[in-house]
Amino acid sequence: MPIAAPTYIEVQSKSILNKVEGMHFRWSINPYRGCAHGCHYCFARSTHFYFDLNAGSDFTSIIFVKVNAPQVLRRELSRPAWRREQVALGTATDPYQPVEGRYRLTRGILEALRDYRTPVGIVTKGTMILRDLDILADMARRGRATVCFSVTTLDRDLWRRLEPGTAPPQQRLRALERLAAAGVNAGVLLAPIVPGLTATPANLEAVVRAAADHGARFPGANVLHLRPGVREHFLTFLEHAYPHLLEGYGRLYRGKYASERYRTGVEELVQVFRERFGLVGRDAPFPSEQAPVQLALPWDGTAVEASAPQAQSPADVGGCATA
Ligand code: SF4
Repeated sequence: MPIAAPTYIEVQSKSILNKVEGMHFRWSINPYRGCAHGCHYCFARSTHFYFDLNAGSDFTSIIFVKVNAPQVLRRELSRPAWRREQVALGTATDPYQPVEGRYRLTRGILEALRDYRTPVGIVTKGTMILRDLDILADMARRGRATVCFSVTTLDRDLWRRLEPGTAPPQQRLRALERLAAAGVNAGVLLAPIVPGLTATPANLEAVVRAAADHGARFPGANVLHLRPGVREHFLTFLEHAYPHLLEGYGRLYRGKYASERYRTGVEELVQVFRERFGLVGRDAPFPSEQAPVQLALPWDGTAVEASAPQAQSPADVGGCATA
């Protein structure tokens, strides 16, 4: 399923700081809607429903660009009531997707956050983040910069199929290494861990080991969940690419979440690798501190609806952060 060349629609925003409930961060910013990276599991796909667009090809080919985002943000940050709480950047769609090279909105947002002494937490798969290393290193010196690189697998075939528009995982790890060397609180998010594909002990061990080897300060993780819209797209993708997995998904996902037993098993396995590679007790990841680290195991077919935490503002939380 190749990704069509995107159409970019410029929009003017009245506000850019989104208040988020139910997460460990209270504010988020998303300069783009839709994401040309096109990960098939992307939790943010369903946010396109808000624009009467679909979660499949529309999500990757119709991208909204909030062209006045830096200016609006400066206005909001200058208000006396602003308390300089940490802001999550890119919780719904990737702030370093290709169009950022043209509009430079993420850079403008970082400049505003730096100037108003506001900490930032970024979630991305985009190596373009190195363009902004100067700002991030400056913010890091004041303890105000955290970067979570989403890395789900080192397997190139899986990567191409699952995340067709993204930079190769090894490139992301090298970018992570440079950020960490510059003092940025940088780590890896194994998010999402995809049952039957990336949720194998070998894959999880490889990613956690590589994260440690590249200077990651934390490995966060989260098992795939499938909310309406995303579920239909992802199962269609599975039907084409991995049809032998469909039946197992039907048993594992009776609701949005994989069975609790499965997720607990994965969590325990992740913890083993964290300890093995010395990533226990490092700085906590942002913004998914509350998401339990979870890993592999073949599913057992036991389906129990889990009571996993859920964001109250689904339009602003998803994508790389909680996919
Ligand atoms: S998971 Fe992240 S990089 Fe992938 S499509 Fe969603 S927002 Fe973009």
